[in-house]
Amino acid sequence: MRIIVQKFGGTSVASPEVRQLVVKKIQKAKEQDLQPVVVVSAMGRKGDSYATDTLIGLVRSANKHTAARELDQVMCCGEMISAAVMTATLQERGIEAVMLTGGQAGIITDANFNHARILKIDSAPILRLLKNGKTPVVCGFQGVTADGELTTLGRGGSDTTASALGGALNAEMIEIYTDVAGIMTADPRLVSNAKILDCISYGEVCQLAHQGAKVIHPRAVEIAMQKNIPLVVKSTFCDEPGTLITNVSKGDSGGTSVTDRIATGVTYLANIAQIKVSTHHTDASYKVFKTMAASNISVDLINVHPGQIMFTVAEELADKAAETLRALGYEVETLYDCAKVSVVGGGMREVPGVMASFVEALSLNDIQILQTVDSHTSISVLVKKSEMQKSVTALHEKFSLAAI
Ligand code: ASP
Ligand code: MG
Repeated sequence: MRIIVQKFGGTSVASPEVRQLVVKKIQKAKEQDLQPVVVVSAMGRKGDSYATDTLIGLVRSANKHTAARELDQVMCCGEMISAAVMTATLQERGIEAVMLTGGQAGIITDANFNHARILKIDSAPILRLLKNGKTPVVCGFQGVTADGELTTLGRGGSDTTASALGGALNAEMIEIYTDVAGIMTADPRLVSNAKILDCISYGEVCQLAHQGAKVIHPRAVEIAMQKNIPLVVKSTFCDEPGTLITNVSKGDSGGTSVTDRIATGVTYLANIAQIKVSTHHTDASYKVFKTMAASNISVDLINVHPGQIMFTVAEELADKAAETLRALGYEVETLYDCAKVSVVGGGMREVPGVMASFVEALSLNDIQILQTVDSHTSISVLVKKSEMQKSVTALHEKFSLAAI
């Protein structure tokens, strides 16, 4: 059996007109002798009647502190409505579709409401449907605990459902349909000549997602990577091929674009604050980080020097972080309104001069570098938020990403 998982995001199922485009994508897969397993997100975006944010707003207007368990029950409704409507649409067009909740599709999770993790998938119910020539339409973003409690997988979790099903069913391919034509070299709202990437590695796309790109959930990429199943991100609204996410590492493919380029994309994360802590004891650095961990504050962009530690936190946690450290006697300075800008690229590993180009691009544009951090496949810089767009554009230009 040749199985393809086709996941449609909120904007792809939002209206009767676009749902007809979804029907076409499913028909096309069938014409290619593939057996589609359809996964849907809740319909539309914030403000639309049955979108996840709308449903959360509804229950929170009754109680701002709605319990996580009840919030999950409400959130699950969004995907159920969407799957029922999509199934009805397919049936009306002569496709024998069958709607399945996450639980009916065999998705078993832990009981961590709102952020559940998939523990296992019983693929029998879906395989049974496929063997009988049916097209399963599965509610994304949800599962069920071993005790039958409804759970959700964390915001954006329909991608995770698609990948997990792809893995469990040994699918040939997982298609993620959205309202953009693929993964781009930068956010086109910031960089007008940003390009759609034909191909990208699992590792690069995970980095891009963690560093701020919003096109696919990194967990979904990690799951597909473990099973080595190709993922394609493409638009419901056109016939462009989209971006293929696959396992291409340096030297693998004899000079294709993925392997030759040094950088793949530029991303940004706004609304972060820099914390500088003066330390006078040798044991101080671990205490600073232990304190942050105990306060449930995650830290990023960490530089440890004799006498000083610098790191960043989400802006809304900056005051809490500073107060907690001051209460322990540390001298703390906070710089608000910062942004992290990163260049990601599997091809920069062991290439000399990448950092030099990076710094040059920023210096020539008079952008002040507040901090840097790098790994084998990314370089990040902290800049003032007011210089974020200028930084993204300068780096996009410097690494010739418009020419990809
Ligand atoms: N509807 C869910 C959300 O908005 C899941 C998803 O769209 O992936 O987070
Ligand atoms: Mg999404």
